[in-house]
Amino acid sequence: MTSLTHKSSLDLPPAAVVIGAGIAGASMAHQLAERGIAVTVFERDELASGGSGNPVAVVRPEPGGEQNPITELSTTGVSWLMDWISTNAQSVPHDWCGAFRIARDQRRHDKLAQQARLLGDACLREVDTVAARNLCGVQPAAGGFFIPQSGWVRPVALVSAFLDHPLIHVRTRMKVERLHPVKSDAQGRWELQLSDGSKVITACVVLASAFAEGLSPVDLAIDSARGQLSCLPERADRPLHTIVCRDGYITPAINGVHTIGATIQYDDDQALARPSDDEENFQRLQRLLPDFASDVSELSSGRVAWRATTQDRLPLVGKIAEGLFASLGHGSRGVACGPLCAEFLSALICAEPLPLGPEWIARLDPLRLVRQH
Ligand SMILES: Cc1cc2nc3c(=O)[nH]c(=O)nc-3n(C[C@H](O)[C@H](O)[C@H](O)COP(=O)(O)OP(=O)(O)OC[C@H]3O[C@@H](n4cnc5c(N)ncnc54)[C@H](O)[C@@H]3O)c2cc1C
Repeated sequence: MTSLTHKSSLDLPPAAVVIGAGIAGASMAHQLAERGIAVTVFERDELASGGSGNPVAVVRPEPGGEQNPITELSTTGVSWLMDWISTNAQSVPHDWCGAFRIARDQRRHDKLAQQARLLGDACLREVDTVAARNLCGVQPAAGGFFIPQSGWVRPVALVSAFLDHPLIHVRTRMKVERLHPVKSDAQGRWELQLSDGSKVITACVVLASAFAEGLSPVDLAIDSARGQLSCLPERADRPLHTIVCRDGYITPAINGVHTIGATIQYDDDQALARPSDDEENFQRLQRLLPDFASDVSELSSGRVAWRATTQDRLPLVGKIAEGLFASLGHGSRGVACGPLCAEFLSALICAEPLPLGPEWIARLDPLRLVRQH
């Protein structure tokens, strides 16, 4: 049995284990390591083999008004990520090209127009159909709103950048089979049983496995939503300059390919890509850029992955029990918001000032969504 210990100041945990090497786990490990804590990351597969393995992720604030927590989290999360990449990880493929958003209906359009007036052009700008053509490079289906603080990033490269730290030790192909408190342990430590039969004892564990995977002592209400991406070859005569989004999105061409996303199906575990999902994504594309592709046969199937979703669309980030923490349920925004949540949770663990207001402790509290049996 290995006992993970680390010499550090008294107010920090001695060492930590993070379960899962997606964006949530990698950014969490990075934040703890930056605070001088030695971190071991256990990943049952390869790095970024869950949702974080998608070839591209759109990062954009969700417009929704001052009182909307998802707007606040996504706006702060995107600007946090932009700053972190520009300071620490310029080599991670990304482009802050902005996103052009078409509202689904007149009611939503009017609401966005009102917000655009309040927020100003630097955050949200109403754009008519003619101006939208110039902005995007291609004629969108309708006028809409430009969100300058947006773009895309390659999540796999971001995961690697976060894990690249001398205090982080990553063990791939190592599943955590079980997790339980060490019996009668005065220090309240946790024992992990690993897939190679070995055990590890540590004072601080962070679940960053997207779903609780039977590892949490309480039943956290996280649902599963399958999503499939589709790919479209670059149109040589029609360069798309921005992300265009509505109830889905298309990215500019990245290495000659546009990514169109994404389907959403609850409780669906089919790992194989389906032509019917490409058809759905083709319909999404028609609602974004009607003349961009003439037929679904121009699309090819992209990656299939699962979002870990919650009822209130906010992730579960915080303390589950003494020495056990969660950064789970990041839903459709884990790339945009997961790294900020890692900073938040690390600050919470280390009793430092939080990067979000104190009301966020309750808003993100994992125990707010416990299934009662
Ligand atoms: C189709 C699709 C499109 C998306 N588009 C976007 C987008 O444009 N922008 C955006 O911000 N987000 C997007 N998302 C959401 C985003 O991908 C996720 O929110 C994010 O990747 C979640 O990161 P994570 O680290 O929490 O989970 P994951 O990336 O799933 O990582 C969890 C890791 O934990 C490992 N693990 C699980 N159990 C164990 C165990 N017992 N022991 C060891 N390891 C374990 C898994 O193997 C996995 O590698 C999309 C998701 C999908 C499915």
